[in-house]
Amino acid sequence: MWEKLGLDLDAHDALLEMLGQLYGQTFMSQRNRPKGMEYFDFVMSEVHGLRIKEIVDAKEEGRKVFGSFCVFVPEEIVLAVDGILVGLCAGAEFALDEAENLLPRNTCSLIKGAFGFTLSNVCPYIKAADMVIGENTCDGKKKSYEIFRDLVSDLYVMDMPQMKNEVDRDFLRHEYRRFAARVEEVSGRKIEVDALRKAIGTVNAKRGAMHRLAGLRAADPAPISGLDALLANQVYFYDDPVRFTESSNQLCNEIEERIGKGEGVFDKGAPRILISGCPMAVPNWKLPTIIEGANAVIVGEESCVGERGTRHLTDETGETVEQLIDNIVDRYFKIDCAVFTPNTVRLEHIKEMAKAYKADGVIHYGLQFCAPYQIEAGPVEKALEADNIPTLRIDTDYSMEDVEQIRTRVEAFIERLKG
Ligand code: SF4
Ligand code: SF4
Repeated sequence: MWEKLGLDLDAHDALLEMLGQLYGQTFMSQRNRPKGMEYFDFVMSEVHGLRIKEIVDAKEEGRKVFGSFCVFVPEEIVLAVDGILVGLCAGAEFALDEAENLLPRNTCSLIKGAFGFTLSNVCPYIKAADMVIGENTCDGKKKSYEIFRDLVSDLYVMDMPQMKNEVDRDFLRHEYRRFAARVEEVSGRKIEVDALRKAIGTVNAKRGAMHRLAGLRAADPAPISGLDALLANQVYFYDDPVRFTESSNQLCNEIEERIGKGEGVFDKGAPRILISGCPMAVPNWKLPTIIEGANAVIVGEESCVGERGTRHLTDETGETVEQLIDNIVDRYFKIDCAVFTPNTVRLEHIKEMAKAYKADGVIHYGLQFCAPYQIEAGPVEKALEADNIPTLRIDTDYSMEDVEQIRTRVEAFIERLKG
């Protein structure tokens, strides 16, 4: 199967070995994990195995695969034509030199990661995708897609508004309609109203399970580690949506029982931290590992791999495809990504999350050279501190060179929280 997909077998083996070791060290050493996490361990162990086999089999049955890098790509529209939407690998440094041959060094790790995985032929999802969807969000992505176009078989670029005025909503509606037309063309299927309504329900249920998990993390002692909750949020982008929802709800059932018995994975009263900022794609577990290794627990992620990505549900009522697409536009238009200006709702959301999950402090995570989040970090920190919410800004990349330096700063921050 790997050869058929065109993977570089040696490089792919090297990636799997690196991932396996990192996964073992990061996740399997945690104490008292919920049993329900075994499902997510299984999915991760099969992310380059059974899941891709499932996708290849689906393609043979005529289903189309769409790959994306952003939570602005509406899964509902893809599901409405019985397509499969997968998040593409961008959470690790791989083939960095090759990526930097095409991109300036001062490009964020996420973009360089996407290029590295593609150039080195190690991502089976990119290979399996019938269409890769780019989006004009930040300048880095927008310009890099001009180069990325030559690396994949079919790149479709969705344009994006930059502000949140009525004209911008109209623009997003126009772009989602254009996207729907292209999805119909690629799949050879027309979007029917019942199929789109069902797809909205499927994605709502998946997001609903994530809302449930998020709410349970308000408990003290914390019933699940931040690392495990992040893992569930990462698996969200790879797994079959219905199976993911069932497994996440089973995990939540178990967590509810734990809360009833007062059981947790950290001691009661352990410092509680909210992470806010850039998305953490698989296998970017660097900062959470440092935080939880210092005996503080992460109680929420204000991130696209987290609550920013899953926060709102879509209205399922409507009699026509156009009405349902309008509902989708309304839902996605609320996403408070830092590429929008101004983006004050994000600050309000961070405060709401800190309160709801009883966070003692916020760690703002910015990827180096990510202008939108790094610039927004300053006003966010200032406003949170003014509200007596201790805040630490960490700017980093995917390398491991700064781990000790970050650890020192995180430990000092945790001491501040204890004080
Ligand atoms: S941070 Fe912005 S650009 Fe990145 S995935 Fe989220 S919405 Fe998309
Ligand atoms: S992390 Fe920042 S710079 Fe990188 S792709 Fe996302 S928004 Fe763009």
